[in-house]
Amino acid sequence: MIYELTILTIAALIVAWLYVRNGREKKRFKQEKQQVKIIHNEALEAERRRHELLLDGLSDALFLVDHDGNVCYANIAARKMFSDRNLIGQSPQAAFPDARFIEAIHHCEQKNKPVVQRIVLPQQLSPLGGRENRGVNAWLLDVAPLPAEAYPQAKLRVLLRDLTAEFQSEQVRKDFVANASHELRTPLAIIQGYLENLLEDGGLRDHHQASRFLSIMSKHTDRVSRIVEDMLVISRLESGEAAALSIEPFEFHSCVQDVLERLEHLIVSQEAKVHYGAVDRTLLITGDRFYWTQVLFNLIENALKQNPRPGLTVTVAAKQEDDGIHISVADDGIGIPSSHLPFVFKRFYRVDQNHTNSAIKGTGLGLSIVKRAIEAHGGEISVSSLPGHETKFSIKLPEPSDT
Ligand code: ADP
Repeated sequence: MIYELTILTIAALIVAWLYVRNGREKKRFKQEKQQVKIIHNEALEAERRRHELLLDGLSDALFLVDHDGNVCYANIAARKMFSDRNLIGQSPQAAFPDARFIEAIHHCEQKNKPVVQRIVLPQQLSPLGGRENRGVNAWLLDVAPLPAEAYPQAKLRVLLRDLTAEFQSEQVRKDFVANASHELRTPLAIIQGYLENLLEDGGLRDHHQASRFLSIMSKHTDRVSRIVEDMLVISRLESGEAAALSIEPFEFHSCVQDVLERLEHLIVSQEAKVHYGAVDRTLLITGDRFYWTQVLFNLIENALKQNPRPGLTVTVAAKQEDDGIHISVADDGIGIPSSHLPFVFKRFYRVDQNHTNSAIKGTGLGLSIVKRAIEAHGGEISVSSLPGHETKFSIKLPEPSDT
């Protein structure tokens, strides 16, 4: 009996021990499982953060759209674009009010194919529904479906790139080509017309008429070459501007004298007075003398050209001040009406009422060259005009840096 009791006690102890051990192992196993889960989650989180860092490094705005059709992720560029407005959980319609964006997203969803599209928004609209202060703006919209096995939470990605700067410079180039062709076509058509007259039977026999035609043709040929030269100067200045300059210090006073010598004939024939006593004789400018000569030539010639009647006074001034160099060219001629002032630096812009019909018009490129040349030197130009009193072009050049 005692023997049996002992066996039973031992057996009970073994069972109890096994039970306790099993419990401990189960607990350890649970703890280990939890540990593995934590490590796995940490690895996943680190991976997610790495991806986010990569996507936040993009300068393009990137959104992910989930299976309910709501934004489920937006990178930093996208958040900035929406001024940190919370987009998560919002529908793309709420984010992009323009119908073309939504159509592109729907098209991508339905066809399960990428959609890449350039969208130009008129005047003041932005894809975000706000008002743009850059005028017409352009965007590249790139929507693509995401593979379900790699991205279970999101069904497509939307990438938005701001193309406004490229679009605007492309537009400027197109306008330039269109304007240039238009400006060249007129004198070329005139030359062609006179040539046809000369080539007609007997056209050359009337020597007096033939020489009149030739002199008109020569005037228009000069105009064609002046337009082409001006266009080349602009294009040189625009192709990497500063790199196109050959910078050296030169005496500004002697540059003014060179220009006045070149214009002497016009100054004398128009009985104009040019004062340049206010040009500091010691003033040195560090810049490209070729372009500065052109700047002064265009400004002084404009004053003379626009005021052919005798008695015009042109005043040139230049001095060093605390905040940089100030240069001005002023005249007391007919001036520029205030409605035209904002546009005179635009290419091919002319104030027509200043030109008589008989005179060959300027190229309309003179002030645009002036502006670009000054900007290539880091400076700026402005104009003010009180017709009949003072029309003044003021240039400000920053202090040259020591580097
Ligand atoms: P343009 O070749 O016609 O002179 P610019 O670009 O040099 O072209 O000048 C643009 C317009 O600005 C000219 O059509 C002219 O009417 C006006 N303008 C420029 N300077 C003066 C000035 N000093 N006085 C009056 N009008 C001026």
